[in-house]
Amino acid sequence: MHSDKEKEIRIRGARVHNLKNINVDIPRDKLTVITGLSGSGKSSLAFDTIYAEGQRRYMETMSPYVRHILGIPERPDADSIDGLSPVISIAQKTVGANPRSTVGTITEIYDFLRVLYARAATAYSRITGEKMIKYNDAQITDLLAENFRDRKTILLAPLVKGRKGHYKELFEQLAKKGFTETRIDGIVTAIKPDLKLDRYKNHFIELLVGKIIPSPENRDSLRSSVALAMMLGKGEMMAMEPEKDNVRHYSRKLMCPTSGVSYAEPAPHSFSFNSPRGACPRCNGLGSIPEIDPEKLIPDSNVSIKKGGILPLGAYKNNIVFAKLEAIARKYDFSLDDKIRDIPDDAMSAILYGTEEPLKIDNLPGLSGTYALSFDGLMNILYAPKNNDEADERGGGERYVKYITCSECNGTRLNKEALHFRFGEKNIAELSTMNLDELYGFLSATADTTDGKTRIVAEAPLKEIFGRLTFLRDVGLNYLSLDRPAGTLSGGEAQRIRLATQIGSQLVNVLYILDEPSIGLHQRDNIKLIDSLKRLRDAENTVIVVEHDEDMIRSADFVLDIGPLAGERGGEVTAQGSPDEIAKGDSLTALYLDGRKSIETPPQRRKGNGKQITLEGATGNNLKNLTATFPLGIFICVTGVSGSGKSSLVNETLHPILSRHFYRSLKDALPYKSVKGIEHIDKVVEVDQSPIGRSPRSNPATYTNVFTLVRKLFESVPEAKTRGYSAGRFSFNVKGGRCEECRGAGVKVVEMNFLPDVHVMCPSCGGKRYNRQTLEVKYKNKNICEVLDMTVEEACPFFEHVPAIYRHLKTMRDVGLGYLRLGQPGTTLSGGENQRVKLAAELAKRDTGNTFFILDEPTTGLHFEDVKALLDVLNKLVERGNTVLVIEHNLDVIKTADHVIDLGPEGGTGGGEIICTGTPEEIAAGNKGFTAPFLHRKLVG
Ligand code: ADP
Ligand code: ADP
Ligand code: ZN
Ligand code: ZN
Repeated sequence: MHSDKEKEIRIRGARVHNLKNINVDIPRDKLTVITGLSGSGKSSLAFDTIYAEGQRRYMETMSPYVRHILGIPERPDADSIDGLSPVISIAQKTVGANPRSTVGTITEIYDFLRVLYARAATAYSRITGEKMIKYNDAQITDLLAENFRDRKTILLAPLVKGRKGHYKELFEQLAKKGFTETRIDGIVTAIKPDLKLDRYKNHFIELLVGKIIPSPENRDSLRSSVALAMMLGKGEMMAMEPEKDNVRHYSRKLMCPTSGVSYAEPAPHSFSFNSPRGACPRCNGLGSIPEIDPEKLIPDSNVSIKKGGILPLGAYKNNIVFAKLEAIARKYDFSLDDKIRDIPDDAMSAILYGTEEPLKIDNLPGLSGTYALSFDGLMNILYAPKNNDEADERGGGERYVKYITCSECNGTRLNKEALHFRFGEKNIAELSTMNLDELYGFLSATADTTDGKTRIVAEAPLKEIFGRLTFLRDVGLNYLSLDRPAGTLSGGEAQRIRLATQIGSQLVNVLYILDEPSIGLHQRDNIKLIDSLKRLRDAENTVIVVEHDEDMIRSADFVLDIGPLAGERGGEVTAQGSPDEIAKGDSLTALYLDGRKSIETPPQRRKGNGKQITLEGATGNNLKNLTATFPLGIFICVTGVSGSGKSSLVNETLHPILSRHFYRSLKDALPYKSVKGIEHIDKVVEVDQSPIGRSPRSNPATYTNVFTLVRKLFESVPEAKTRGYSAGRFSFNVKGGRCEECRGAGVKVVEMNFLPDVHVMCPSCGGKRYNRQTLEVKYKNKNICEVLDMTVEEACPFFEHVPAIYRHLKTMRDVGLGYLRLGQPGTTLSGGENQRVKLAAELAKRDTGNTFFILDEPTTGLHFEDVKALLDVLNKLVERGNTVLVIEHNLDVIKTADHVIDLGPEGGTGGGEIICTGTPEEIAAGNKGFTAPFLHRKLVG
């Protein structure tokens, strides 16, 4: 099988999306980088052709039933694809961040830790803290003889432990078997006919199995009494002196000898917060409990209740809630017209948490008479935490909620019992909070001190854990901890974790496809990432990476350059071969690789407008009480290794502060002391890569507002005037001019039982979205549908004489989106395309030149040439007086910034400080931190 293994993946006639019927041979067992401009067709080849076909073949091998349920994906549009092995795609998207997933669970390290704890941890009593002990009968006999030597002792078999019932039948049975005494709730009692207990109370019942004075002479009878007690007590027994309070417990299970608390035999799921056996009973293993945050309910206490001061209620309405609030106002003597800050505390507490006594209400809408109604308080009405995952599905409340750490488990997610097993004196939750470096160090030190049986049983899980930890540290994730919720990871972190998990699983003969794994990674760690990929390849796997990073391209065995441009002007292979071979050619990538083209370092740095925003005392996540100054009117770059605190500072602290100030956004900023200088800007805009709209009805024309202008234009043509068509007639979102069969979508969704929905072209309009009459109206010989079908490039000359429209189109062309169609559904745009559409929209606005723009790794998905175009756009924004702040690793971007703020030095607890600030030259010359040396090399060559 291996000897005649195919040498390459052969693709013939690929036509997916913009691919131009291309033929490609990708060598197997090699590291291949697919590069090219954003929108050139890299993903169309790597994911929508190769990966899609791999998936489809995999599905074909499944049972007809499974295939029916899942549906067989369509064959990608290609003549043939050969030489595929099982394909695994490691994409960036964190699909459905389940609140129960953590770094520990997705890397499986936590799973192996659970095995380790089940086998090799020591249990301690959760009552007394003593070591829990397991005995066999012979040991118990010895212990009893020792503990109670020469003293009168009774032996008891526990039958009922804290359960309700009258237990009449139990006593009857015992009497029948000839037992005469029992201990009920601590009191030794004779078993008499008709003995029965209070059925509504919890009871503890032990059977008196024997009385003995242990001594060396009667060892044999002691042993048989123990055997009987252990049998009746199902592996547990107790002993005590009559009339004394000295009960001792003995058990074949883990048991606290003093309190008698016993633990079940530990199994891996005893340490799982996703299992009822291990989960904290209060938060059900989530670690936090949702609670309404009064500050979010009432963002501004200068507003009155009537004017809508309580956000979810809105302004005064004649309804039952307001009727109740009025009753509260009468009772506590205030008015709903008062500013909320002036309402007395006890009244506010009644509003939020409810009243004990019912309220007398005589003004119920539509009813006469007085009613006594209870009021639960807004906190409870909006959101009754149900202590489980469904809680967050409650309507509306979620926006006003904050999560507080569960007080029962302190956020560890585990129950008390699970937390009382320790390996190397630490419980599994303590291990989960360590960063991966600390965890590695702790486990290897502890493993060295174990011996005997523990050492043997710990070996296998430890091997798996060490393997995975090594890979994770190798891809620069040493600062993470196992308890970090998966949902809080960045796309790049999540992808590298999946990569490490894959390498750890040691599969062979697999085809891996990765999407820009270098995202979020500092140059310092990039080399480790590349090494990991090479290791994956050396283990007989084929690795295909869609990537723009120069070091990654240079490290590839084979490079495919897709282009020459983007969209319809791309989709071809412009160069292929080893990095050296392609550098000799003249594809776009080649020009940058050998320096014929490059991103220029600006001759001087802007000074800005002399004003600044200062954020003091930021302490969120790993930030070490830092004070950051953001000079305004310039281009700022925030740098630092992954995990150093860049997002914590910018996305989690600065941005929420500014959006709360300008837009009353509800997102909480991480803690900080003060902020100064907000008055120097007049808005904040975050330009991210999220879709421009969730529905296929959003498109570049609607997003940039071009479509409104185009519809106005159509309204004004004589034909429309004669027919009395208004602008609304040309909308595909409202009734009138659109095709009603498909309601302006152009496609119809056919719902299939069990299968994904199928989109078919609308039979009525043939995909044109409008009805015939609407399409008869033309502007410069094109109807509205034909206009939506134009690329930006084509539309520019077409609308040249309509300045309002032309301005938008030109900015879109300027940001490199000339190839997009005006009506291309927003859902088909890539992240980079979305970001650039948004930037274009911002650029086209007549702004006040006083905006603070924030971008997080805007070079994601961008080729050198795209980065150049992006920098032009960002610089234009700055030239108009705005401030642009980007978080970046790309040195071509960093070197063009006016001001750099470098965080570090390390990720996680080793970071969170500002290492240096200044112009790129100053950073390079100062030689502090990890960014400086790379920047130095970039600037001086
Ligand atoms: P890259 O990965 O090189 O950035 P893509 O392969 O994502 O480029 O896109 C190539 C072209 O195909 C772009 O013009 C893009 O807008 C278009 N495209 C991508 N996905 C779809 C889709 N689902 N339907 C139609 N066009 C698409
Ligand atoms: P960067 O953006 O520089 O990569 P981050 O600001 O994302 O760094 O992270 C800084 C530190 O804060 C890291 O140790 C990271 O693990 C931690 N961290 C980030 N987000 C969270 C979170 N939601 N919960 C807990 N820790 C977090
Ligand atoms: Zn809890
Ligand atoms: Zn239609």
